[in-house]
Amino acid sequence: MARSFSKSRLLSLLQCEKRFWLELYRPELREDSASTRASFATGHSVGAIARKLYDLNGQGVEIDLATDGVSRALARTSELMAEPRPIFEAGFSAHGGLAFADIVLPGSNASSWRMVEVKSSTSVKDYQRDDAAIQAYVARRAGIDLQSIAIAHIDSGWVYQGDGNYNGLLVESDITEEAFSRSEEVEEWISRAQSIAAQDNEPIKSTGRHCTSPYECGLHAYCTKQEPPVDFPLAWLPGAQSKALKQLVEERGVRDLRDVPDTALNKRQLLVKTQTLAKSAFFDAAGARAKLAPYVLPLYFLDLETISFGIPIWKGTRPYQQMPFQFSLHSIDENGNLDHDSFLDLSGHDPSRPFADALIAACGKQGTIFAYNASFEIGRLKDVAERHPDLIEPLLSIASRVVDLLPIAQNHYYHPSQHGSWSIKAVIPAVAPDLDYHNLAGVQDGGMAMDAYLAAVEPDVSDEHRENIRTQLLDYCKLDTYAMVRLWQVFAGRDDLNLR
Ligand code: SF4
Repeated sequence: MARSFSKSRLLSLLQCEKRFWLELYRPELREDSASTRASFATGHSVGAIARKLYDLNGQGVEIDLATDGVSRALARTSELMAEPRPIFEAGFSAHGGLAFADIVLPGSNASSWRMVEVKSSTSVKDYQRDDAAIQAYVARRAGIDLQSIAIAHIDSGWVYQGDGNYNGLLVESDITEEAFSRSEEVEEWISRAQSIAAQDNEPIKSTGRHCTSPYECGLHAYCTKQEPPVDFPLAWLPGAQSKALKQLVEERGVRDLRDVPDTALNKRQLLVKTQTLAKSAFFDAAGARAKLAPYVLPLYFLDLETISFGIPIWKGTRPYQQMPFQFSLHSIDENGNLDHDSFLDLSGHDPSRPFADALIAACGKQGTIFAYNASFEIGRLKDVAERHPDLIEPLLSIASRVVDLLPIAQNHYYHPSQHGSWSIKAVIPAVAPDLDYHNLAGVQDGGMAMDAYLAAVEPDVSDEHRENIRTQLLDYCKLDTYAMVRLWQVFAGRDDLNLR
């Protein structure tokens, strides 16, 4: 008997046949990244909220696939569908497909149903349309009178008003017509899945951009180990690939910068290739100095750490809104003396007001404030100002003083050790080799800072653990702004200042 494939398996197939085969036969190889695990966690939280929003009378029933197993879950679905009521995780199987629907609800007549797939994204993505096409196909082939299918996703403009009221968090997009029209496609996917599943060996496929789109593939470490090492990987080229470059990759399997003609590269990519192959740094010292000349002492160097929640927990915030809970601020006064100030709120309460008060006090009234990739800092300052109208003037005044160091680095400096990245963590080891993020205990990047924040605000965290996290976060953020100080010193040619 031909085997059945779940929706997730078929979606893996659409991304990569090798992924599909390996997940089927060698699932132990899969290693989900922290960001994949975080997005699963957000998905589960959104699912839990959706179950409440779609079952206001509490008459719905949830099928637990983990406890029941597939056969029992399918049988329970049939039993439950004898009565009109919301069913969560209803299971259907037909024509080689297996689908568990997030939500099925009674339709407008006695025998019909409508299906809602819940997503934690803020818009409908193409791969979610594929997902819905599979769900609709399997349910209809299983004999369900499916009236409609919709994707419910998060409304990014919705504002949480508190008291656990999440009405309006989700908005539905009806995709019935499209999903119902794709039956032939789904049949082709199932038949392809059956033929690949029948293969004794894993399909041959090189790694590439498909490994991260639409999902990050957890088999990347396994696949890259199988490939011969590349001295100068194409992945070091920053930004989007030109059409010519994409063709070289897809048709001729080019993987090394040496095999890429200069004509296929933009200016920044060409700089990366040239300096990488020459094994030498590029530094337009005069240009960098000229760009920084207008900014005189006193100077400030600002970095923020933020947290965001797909489902907002603080009144007045939007889904996925980045809320600052920490800043580090280095300053150099008129006499060239270096100082440092910082703020960190691990109370778990909305940190925006104390953050704003502390930042306004620390930044003074004048002096350029450098940030790295400053649009992020400026955006967060504007967000906080919007939440606290009485602080609009001082916060926008701070925002107006912010100058971005990133474009100065991008236009005037490159070292081959950056591997195509101008993140501060990539640039600083070349510019100031005595600074090393790897020497930090614990938190070493923005993602780790978010995880650390979440761990620190857990209700049952011990005081000792919270204080340990506090130290890690303070050290990490301080290093970011000190790195900016040292970058500025080199770019501005201010060897006369003692900033160590
Ligand atoms: S890492 Fe890339 S090539 Fe390997 S299985 Fe995943 S998607 Fe396919």
